Amino acid sequence: MPDPMRKNQAVGRAVAVGVGATALAAALFASGRRAAAAGVVAGAGALGAAAFVPTAPLFGPSVSGGSHTTMTAALTFDDGPGPSTAELLDVLAEQDVRATFFVLGRQARAYPEVIARMAADGHQIASHGFDHGILIFRGPGYVAAQLAETEVAVRDATGTDILTPYFRAPHGFRGPATWAAARRRGYRMAAWTTGVWDTTEPGTEVIVERTSRALVPGAVILLHDADGWDADRARPQTVAAIPGICAAARDRGLRLVRFDELVGA
Ligand SMILES: [Zn+2]
Repeated sequence: MPDPMRKNQAVGRAVAVGVGATALAAALFASGRRAAAAGVVAGAGALGAAAFVPTAPLFGPSVSGGSHTTMTAALTFDDGPGPSTAELLDVLAEQDVRATFFVLGRQARAYPEVIARMAADGHQIASHGFDHGILIFRGPGYVAAQLAETEVAVRDATGTDILTPYFRAPHGFRGPATWAAARRRGYRMAAWTTGVWDTTEPGTEVIVERTSRALVPGAVILLHDADGWDADRARPQTVAAIPGICAAARDRGLRLVRFDELVGA
């Protein structure tokens, strides 16, 4: 597999495409073709939104949340397993909460025993790709390999095909090939309703507060048990926030369930 494209590289290339589109639009405008110029600008904007907004429909459908009429919500964790994940599993067990882990195949290889425990504890294991490489500019073969290698890593760790066919693209960024390639392997694209930005480590209280505000019926909360770009990074603030988050859900009469249960699949 080629080296993963990082977020800043993908953004840089998207900006280059946008600059090219702007130059083209300017040339069209200068030559009097105003409608064509406007079309180029609108097209570039739509493609940018499709790539960078996880729920934008142009690059295929994604499932982001559940019903607003049932009193359930889902906690989801990306980028693991990592150094904090075993402790997170302890806390979730104490709270008697099942969650969803969008795991990286690379990390499943590094922490097979943690993957096995996720499965044994009844959590949902879903795919975040193999190495967190950004997919916007990648073709279907690359996307398929990211999924396939993650499937094998989870199977090797658990001895079963317990990985559920939900795929959350790294950062939610998708390209024209992402959805089609994932669908061909039987996956649905998974997004979220609220990102907590726990990756910036704003403090346990802030993580509890932001999450509590977002906990409404059908909510899918995006948290991180690890770091997609720094495999050694721990997430102690996120782990420490879990009891407060679970208490807030209980106060509101919300039951915390797995993503697949929430979206009814
Ligand atoms: Zn990620």
